[in-house]
Amino acid sequence: MQTSKVQIVENILSANDRIAEENQKALNSLGVTCMNIMASPGAGKTSVILKTIQHLAPKFRIAVIEGDTAPVTIDADKVSELDVPVTQINTAGNCHLDAMMVQKGIQHLDLQGIDLLIIENVGNLVCPASFRLGEHFNVVIASIPEGDDKPYKYPGIYQGIDALILNKSDLLPYIDFNQKYFRMGIQALNPGIPTFLLSCKTGEGFDSWIEWLSDRFAEK
Ligand code: MG
Ligand code: ZN
Repeated sequence: MQTSKVQIVENILSANDRIAEENQKALNSLGVTCMNIMASPGAGKTSVILKTIQHLAPKFRIAVIEGDTAPVTIDADKVSELDVPVTQINTAGNCHLDAMMVQKGIQHLDLQGIDLLIIENVGNLVCPASFRLGEHFNVVIASIPEGDDKPYKYPGIYQGIDALILNKSDLLPYIDFNQKYFRMGIQALNPGIPTFLLSCKTGEGFDSWIEWLSDRFAEK
């Protein structure tokens, strides 16, 4: 019985990967680079996205797909206030985005002339790591209040990603967060990964984050 369950999961994932590949082809034909952002709820995904857009615009044109488990448009509303095309995918309680949902999002957005499509995945440190969406690169946002033990407890999410943001650096004076311990855990899972200590409140770290991110466009 256990083998058939594993088989089913493998079939779902390979079907997902096929659609993810289609998504990437569609994005490539439009010249759009796509970044998938994963994090736990409350890590500051939306805040980082908003500040990132403020840094990149008007030089680059950005669009956003917001993944949410509930049909509330809180995050999408904030993004659209910046005059950025945004579409919200309501996963109806599902705890991750899959390639099929993102395909609908891509079809819904006018991506002509867009340089960067940002996907805000559902807040979750487990399954988003297993579902490719068609993105060109993956970023995880960790944050100081989550604690320094997350790489040890949720190793899967930190493997194979392209950059790591450690957000809410302004809270370091108030929280026992051992950066050395945290970074040791990350290094074991993803050696040499570019890591950015950021604060959306003070703006710390954004210059180097934006520089790294902009280089991802130049590569294309
Ligand atoms: Mg959010
Ligand atoms: Zn899930």
